[in-house]
Amino acid sequence: MSHNAESTAFRSALEVIRAVEPRVADAIGAELTDQRESLKLIASENYASPATLLAMGNWFSDKYAEGTVGRRFYAGCQNVDTVEALAAEHARELFGAAHAYVQPHSGIDANLVAFWAVLADRVESPALKKAQVRQVNDLTEADWFALRRELGNQRMLGMSLDAGGHLTHGFRPNISGKMFDQRSYGTDPVTGLIDYDRVAEAAREFKPLILVGGYSAYPRKVNFRILREIADSVGATFMVDMAHFAGLVAGKVFTGDFDPVPHAHIVTTTTHKSLRGPRGGMVLCQPELADQVDRGCPMVLGGPLPHVMAAKAVALAEARRPDFADYAQRIVDNSQALAEGLLRRGATLVTGGTDNHLVLIDVSGYGLTGRQAEQALLDSGIVTNRNSVPQDPNGAWYTSGIRIGTPALTTRGLGTAEMDQTAELIHTVLTQTTAGANADGTPSKAKYTLDADLADKIAQQATDLLAPHPLYPGIDLA
Ligand SMILES: *Cc1c(COP(=O)(O)O)cnc(C)c1O
Repeated sequence: MSHNAESTAFRSALEVIRAVEPRVADAIGAELTDQRESLKLIASENYASPATLLAMGNWFSDKYAEGTVGRRFYAGCQNVDTVEALAAEHARELFGAAHAYVQPHSGIDANLVAFWAVLADRVESPALKKAQVRQVNDLTEADWFALRRELGNQRMLGMSLDAGGHLTHGFRPNISGKMFDQRSYGTDPVTGLIDYDRVAEAAREFKPLILVGGYSAYPRKVNFRILREIADSVGATFMVDMAHFAGLVAGKVFTGDFDPVPHAHIVTTTTHKSLRGPRGGMVLCQPELADQVDRGCPMVLGGPLPHVMAAKAVALAEARRPDFADYAQRIVDNSQALAEGLLRRGATLVTGGTDNHLVLIDVSGYGLTGRQAEQALLDSGIVTNRNSVPQDPNGAWYTSGIRIGTPALTTRGLGTAEMDQTAELIHTVLTQTTAGANADGTPSKAKYTLDADLADKIAQQATDLLAPHPLYPGIDLA
């Protein structure tokens, strides 16, 4: 596709929107400007391709398609069938999965589909068999009551939040924590790494129905073969949430023991993080869970979003091309260059480095909370997010960490030399920021001071770093 075609497509679309509600057209244009101008180090964000973006803006949005390919509750779904089947086929081929379900609207929804597929397979199906009925409607009131209690009384073992786990892995504020009796495994207090012997011990003691692997803020690779062995040893279903690192699996950076797909019974992911697709989710699973997974809608999901499934098919086709493996490797090269640049300048990193797309800086060494560091960096044109570190003394709101990731900047084309310069900018901001005090003189976890001229100077240097690597170079809205 030529650059002119991309510009024409987006300009025309904005013209059509502007005729109805110009403020929306303006906001869309302003968002492109903001994205172009910011040094985006948010580990969970990326930039989807123009083809992926365009696949979402069309009349597929008008279609109801409850059910699955070839088995719909609505008529006239042949074109939705085409794109859903294509997206699933690309997903299966890309990840070497037996089955793919591409309807989940987000990562959280994909996890809910997975949890209920496992509960249906391991709790509901045996109960139906025992009662000698085919479906839940045929159970007696007493058997139904007993089954509902069973469904709500299962155990889950997942990674603790402050070690990098995700809220949806059984934590109380999320519905998963209200559904499951949950325990979590942490990381070694000295090395910061997952201690598999401790995980095995926790599994033996707790006997979970589901063992969850996967994280949002753990900067290392995970040995999924070992976790599967642990799950098998206690009869647990092994689920991996690869929302963050799916792109590294797709790009064959994580292979063998570190590729979750051959080891897990069920794998969930987002499609918009390192995988670089549209905002959405997906479930991959072994054949024995396929039928239950396909019941995701209407079991827990609202009607499918056919326009997003079309975009998933486009993005997954892109991820199957050889250049995606090169992209995935560059994500990790960049992340390691950033980590080395920070370490060389004296920063403290959780686990002392990274094997993946993200780096977790413990900013307590700079005398700051995560909240202060995040804001000071933002003032300086550097977009990151604060994050807990293991055993964080500042809790989940203020935190003591900054999480940074390279998928987005790598998409723009920045390389390892620019990562070292980025490390210099981050280190400068953090060393020049001082924590503030409350009115009563006690240390504040939110207030800070950073010289405004210095912040402006850093922001200009960040802009200079980005200048040779324009975002969406083929799109000119002017
Ligand atoms: C981002 C993330 C999710 C949630 O994805 P959404 O698309 O925001 O719902 C779930 N699990 C993990 C591990 C994540 O990192």
